[in-house]
This record gives sequence, structure tokens and C-alpha cells, in this order.
Amino acid sequence: MKSRLLGMAFAAADTLLELDADGRIDMALGAGPCPRGATAETWRGVLLTDLVGKAGQKPLMDALAAIRPNERPAPIDALIACDTDRVRRARLRLFQLPDLAPAVSCAITYDGAPFTLAVPEAPPLLSADGLLSRVRGSLLAPDEDVAVAFVDVPGLAAAGEAHERAAARVAAVLQASSIDGASAARLAPERFALVRASDSQTDLASEVRDAAAAEGLDLAVRATEAALSGSAPAESTVRALRFALEACIREGGIDGAGAAFSESLKRTLKEADRFRTMVQSRDFALQYQPIIDLTTGVTHHFEALARFGSRGPADSIRLAEELGLIEGFDLAVAEKALQQLRRPGFGLTRIAVNVSGASLGSNAYVDGLLRLTAAAPDIRNRILIEVTETAAVADIEAAGRRLSALRRAGVKVCLDDFGVGAASLDYLHRLPADTVKIDGRFVREIVSDARARDLVAHLVELCADLKMTTIAEMIETEEQATAVRDLGVGYGQGWLFGRPAAEPVVAAPQPVSVRRRGAVAGWG
Ligand code: C2E
Ligand code: MG
Ligand code: MG
Repeated sequence: MKSRLLGMAFAAADTLLELDADGRIDMALGAGPCPRGATAETWRGVLLTDLVGKAGQKPLMDALAAIRPNERPAPIDALIACDTDRVRRARLRLFQLPDLAPAVSCAITYDGAPFTLAVPEAPPLLSADGLLSRVRGSLLAPDEDVAVAFVDVPGLAAAGEAHERAAARVAAVLQASSIDGASAARLAPERFALVRASDSQTDLASEVRDAAAAEGLDLAVRATEAALSGSAPAESTVRALRFALEACIREGGIDGAGAAFSESLKRTLKEADRFRTMVQSRDFALQYQPIIDLTTGVTHHFEALARFGSRGPADSIRLAEELGLIEGFDLAVAEKALQQLRRPGFGLTRIAVNVSGASLGSNAYVDGLLRLTAAAPDIRNRILIEVTETAAVADIEAAGRRLSALRRAGVKVCLDDFGVGAASLDYLHRLPADTVKIDGRFVREIVSDARARDLVAHLVELCADLKMTTIAEMIETEEQATAVRDLGVGYGQGWLFGRPAAEPVVAAPQPVSVRRRGAVAGWG
């Protein structure tokens, strides 16, 4: 009975295998899979699933698990590996002889000669920027839960045709594993990243290793993954990702790149959460630094500077700008400053608040400020906004319209840190402002550097033409104060006149003779 069945199966097949309960080849009869010397004998002890191509593996495993004596499951078409780089199309028929169970027989019929798998075609890999916009796209789609996976393949970029083909195979595997078949990127010659479904079960490292092995390369592959879910809204997650990705690329080094990235992303998301909470609970303070009329010495107004605990604000503010959190913060600062202006005894005080250029990207800040002052609009005449980070102004015309709306309402506008960045002059012409604050680095050089003096002189002239006043910041010495005043700068700020303090009150007498104490000047 056994030999009859075997004979029947064998007559129709090129190779007959007997598998043990684990699917391991116990016996192999018939024509070897490849003419090139290899015989079916060499398959003994090998798992059959290891010999079939990826597409056939799951059907084969399912069929092996389900098979019962005397049943004939549907045949499985698969590619069977012949040697390291060739495969052969084959049809596999499983059956189980009752007296041999749990062993399973498998008859293989080949279709055509062995062939080399062509290097698969795949869409070109993205750049880091392309990856980011891909992440942005999927995060904005509400039902895509995505992860970013990092794959390092040290040795892949070595010269040679095999390496080139292996790289093409790796690219194809990564693209195929990515969320839409085209969302893998090459960040460095041997470092890749891809966006994929966060519940993806694919073992990337072993797939990539296999792809390289198909070209005869034995490479160590590392894969790590960072899920992008969490409490943060999509847009700021994308920004966090960019922040972390940039940090990661900057830090370089193949070892631990994936880990460094997910650490960096986690840290960034945590910081963002902390910042958001801090803004919501108004858990920050303002300090006030005086701005002096350089010809009279009278305190003109105070700049409100944010303080988070003992730390300076610069890092947190940069992060908030990067992560799209600055608008809410700037508005919270304005709210605090307005509270200060409404306190008894401060009816003549004026306060400048800093506003990031990014906050002028929508109507929210301007609308918010107008709403905060709607009950008693006169207070708007005691508010000045300093537009910092003008580089973040994306749509300059729209930002200009928003600033005009504020100016019509009585709020004065100052362009902060003027002179840094090539676009400064352009902003001067296109953003409506009352005042320009000349960046501190010109003041620092003003005594020693004739070019800085020249520049400030021209700037003062230009501003006068445009009916704008000028402020010099970071004045630390008498010489600097005298120099900028002699060049025609109207107002000054810096440690010489007063450090940031808890309250906007005119401090103790100052050493410069031109200054009169205790008075507050008009806008001038
Ligand atoms: P900024 O608006 O140009 O503020 C001037 C900075 O120079 C402040 O640093 C101030 O403390 C410092 N400073 C003032 N006088 C002197 C001086 O004589 N010598 C020196 N070396 N430094 C002086 P701070 O408070 O660390 O602020 C840094 C930047 O953070 C600000 O630059 C501003 O761009 C930003 N910032 C601060 N508060 C806010 C805010 O509420 N909103 C926004 N968007 N940005 C803010
Ligand atoms: Mg400022
Ligand atoms: Mg400044």
C-alpha cells in the first residue's frame, strides 16, 4: 500500500520528499532540484519552508499544520531554492500516508529550468526630507498608526557589483515593508529608515539579511523602531520627529543610531508635553528689563522676558518654535503682561512682549491679543510686540496684514534682533513696524569695529526715512551707550541700564549723566 501510493505520487513528480512532524526533510528521492551537481540528498535535515520563496512559506506552513491522512490539500505553487542564487518554479503536493503519520510526503513537480531572481524593481528610496513629509502625510491620516524603523547594514556600501545588487535588493525589501511600498529612505550609505504600520509583524532585520545573502553577502543587520503614537497631536509629532531625526543625523555614527533616534524622539516628545503643560498651567514667570530713552535717560518701557525656573528661555523657546507650540505660549505671555499692566500703580507703564515670527503664521495670536484687550482697548496703547525669529515668518504678506491689524488697534510693533540673517532688510520693507531693535552683536562690536558703526549709522538713517525709531540692545558699558547714541540710535537696553527684574519698576539711580530718573516718556 505504502509503495503503491509512493509510486503513484512519484510517477507524476520530479522529486518526492518525506517530512518529519516538524516539516524537516527526512528522505528525498528523484531528480535533484538543480542540475549543477546538487542532489536531493543534500536536502536531508533541512526545513522545507526554508527552501521555498517568501510567497510560498505561509501557505506551506498552513497546509502542513492542517493535513490529515488521506486528504489531498490544494497544491502549492512556490519558488524552490536550488543554490545560493537560483530558484526554480515548482508545484508542491502534500499528502499523508495513514501508517506513516505524522510524517508527511511532498511531491514536487518543477516547471521550467532554474533561474536567477532578477534584482527586484523598487521605487527609489526617499531622502530624510522625503521621509519626514511621508510621516507628516500618514500622521495626518487619522487611521494610520505608524512607526519609524531604522535599519543599519554595515558593509553594504562597499564597492563591487554584488554590493550594488545587494543594496538594490535591500532597497526593494525596505520599500515593500513600508507603509505604501514607497516610504523607505536612505539616510546614509548604510543607514535606512522607513515608515511602516506600527503593528507590522515583519522581521525587518532578517528580511534585509536575506536580501544581502541573495547576493552572497553575509552582513550583520540591526533594526530598531520608534512608534509615533502618543498624546501629541499629529503636526507637533512630525516636528518632534524632524527635531529628533536631525539631532540623530547630526550625531552620526552607525552604532546605536536607531536607539539614539528613539531616545531623542522620546525626549523631544516628553519636553513638548512638559512645555504644553507649563503653558496651560501658566507655570512660568516674566521678568522685566527697562528700555531707556538715550537722549533723556528716561525709562520708556520694559521688555517682558520669560523665565522657566532658573533657566534662561532660549532652549525652551527654540523647541517650542520647532514643535509648533510657540503661539499658545506667546499668547500666555501677553496675558501675564496685561495682568501686570492692570495692577494698581502701573497705569503709565508700557510693556513689550516677544512674539515669535511663527506666531504670526495664523490669525490666532492677533485675534487672541485683541480678545484679551477687548474689554478695555485703551490698554493696547501700552503694549508693544517684538517680533523675534523673523526667519520663521513664512508668508510675509499675511504676517504683514496681521501686524497692520495690531497697529490699527494701537499696539506698537518692533522688529527684534535686527541685522542677523540675510532677510532682515527685506523684512524692514515688507513688515509694517514702528521700531527696529538692532541686534546685540553690533552693539558688542560698536566701540572696536568701524564696520559695525557704519552699519548702525546707515540703519538709523534708513529707519528715520521709514519713520521708525531704533533701539540698541545689550548695552553693557558707558562707551557703548555713548557710541550708539552718537550714531543716532533713540533707545537703549542692557545691563548698563538694568537687568531683568521681577517687576517693571524704575531702578536705582544710574551712572550716565544724560539720564533723568523716575520719569516715563511718551512713545516719541
Ligand atoms: P531678546 O528678545 O533679544 O531678549 C534679549 C536677551 O538679551 C534676553 O535674554 C536678555 O536677558 C538678554 N540681555 C539683556 N541685556 C543684556 C546685556 O546687557 N548683556 C547681555 N549679554 N544680555 C542681555 P533672555 O531673557 O535669555 O532671552 C533670550 C531670547 O528668548 C530673547 O531674545 C527672545 O528672543 C526669547 N524670548 C524671551 N522671552 C520670550 C517670550 O516671551 N516669547 C518669545 N517668543 N520669545 C521670548
Ligand atoms: Mg526681545
Ligand atoms: Mg534681541
